[in-house]
Amino acid sequence: MRCDVLAVGTELLLGQIVDTNSSWMGEQLAASGVDSLLQVKVGDNVGRIIAQIERLLVDADALILCGGLGPTHDDLTREAIAAVMGVELRLDQGVADVIRTMFESRGRRMSENNLRQAMVPVGATVIPQTRGTAPGLICPVMVGGVEKVVFAVPGVPHELYDMFQRAVLPELLERAGEPSVIVSRVLRTWGESESGLNERLDHLIAELDEAGNPTLAFLASGWEGLKVRLTAKAETTASAAELIEVWDRRIRDELGDQVFGVDTQTMESVVLDALRDRGSTLGLAESVTGGLVAGRLTSVPGSSEVLRGSIVSYATEVKQSLLGVAAGPVVNEQAAVEMAEGARRVLGADVGLALTGVAGPAEQDGMPAGTLCVGIATPSGSLARTLRVPGQREQMRQFAVISSLDLLRRHLNDLDIGH
Ligand code: ATP
Ligand code: MG
Repeated sequence: MRCDVLAVGTELLLGQIVDTNSSWMGEQLAASGVDSLLQVKVGDNVGRIIAQIERLLVDADALILCGGLGPTHDDLTREAIAAVMGVELRLDQGVADVIRTMFESRGRRMSENNLRQAMVPVGATVIPQTRGTAPGLICPVMVGGVEKVVFAVPGVPHELYDMFQRAVLPELLERAGEPSVIVSRVLRTWGESESGLNERLDHLIAELDEAGNPTLAFLASGWEGLKVRLTAKAETTASAAELIEVWDRRIRDELGDQVFGVDTQTMESVVLDALRDRGSTLGLAESVTGGLVAGRLTSVPGSSEVLRGSIVSYATEVKQSLLGVAAGPVVNEQAAVEMAEGARRVLGADVGLALTGVAGPAEQDGMPAGTLCVGIATPSGSLARTLRVPGQREQMRQFAVISSLDLLRRHLNDLDIGH
């Protein structure tokens, strides 16, 4: 099954927005074993949209159009599809009612042009809208005696994601005659390069390539770590989930404690959960990261149960007067421990985590850019580790955040934290 993508919108051509919808769909299609061989952008011009639909349908079995389904005059996707199908647009009363009710429930007046969104090509099936107002469309199109299909989904990303998963993918898989349930899981890892990970999983990848199901993909995500995604297809959700379970275990046997979480878990959420499970609170002392650790932790809902606060002790004098760091250089393990103990004491926390280092570009205290000293203080004692963090200033600081949190995660779970 080949499904190409046509993103509609003049703003895409002008560089005002980046076509993340096509990338997202490309990733989803690949994970589901559907080929997507051309992804095209076109402006809001009905003639050019029609021309591209016809051109892409020569080779593709299916085509997804995203964008241009809204209520305004430059939303032309419906018209273009109807022209290619050689049919008229007709008002779908059910869709019109949903749109009207949506406006009424929000206490807003509906302008008549909103009913444009209820216009459906004759012969098309509506994908009901659950979030926005524009419904999606499934449109059968005959090309040289073969039935192909054109999907139309809204441009607004979260509406698109929902419709894609709910209606487009199941329809595509059914047309492909594939087992119709897909389950995927992302294993979040930290601590190994992509090539290193590849090497360690080499034999498992070969085995998976042979079997073809589940599939495994690496997604390098910078300072979010490396993601390993497993995608399984099966007749039922239970059997797909079972396949995932088996391979999840085999991958973990290989990668061990480098796997810090799954799916939507992040290093921040995992560390907060670990502290919460132990009934512990956390206090931070940040120098090199200037509050980034606190920023990342506080973006996780419920972090207030764990995080007492953060002291951004940037100037040496502040480290000394507020946290009790001894006079002398401040980028070393001793200073990191003193900062962590100071944060524990001043913030009244069970666990103190401190970061001091050199973001660069210049060196500091004789330490090169990329030096990171992390201190951890707990009721049973303190420790520090020195790490070399890659990258320019901003990247170094972001890597420092996840590296220090990983160290704390390892310490809390009694895992190896090096010397
Ligand atoms: P609406 O009903 O909201 O008008 P629509 O289907 O007409 O939806 P567009 O008007 O094309 O969609 O786009 C709406 C918004 O969705 C854009 O302003 C943009 O923020 C986002 N968007 C559209 N196309 C893309 C794309 N290809 N990639 C990422 N975002 C997009
Ligand atoms: Mg629009």
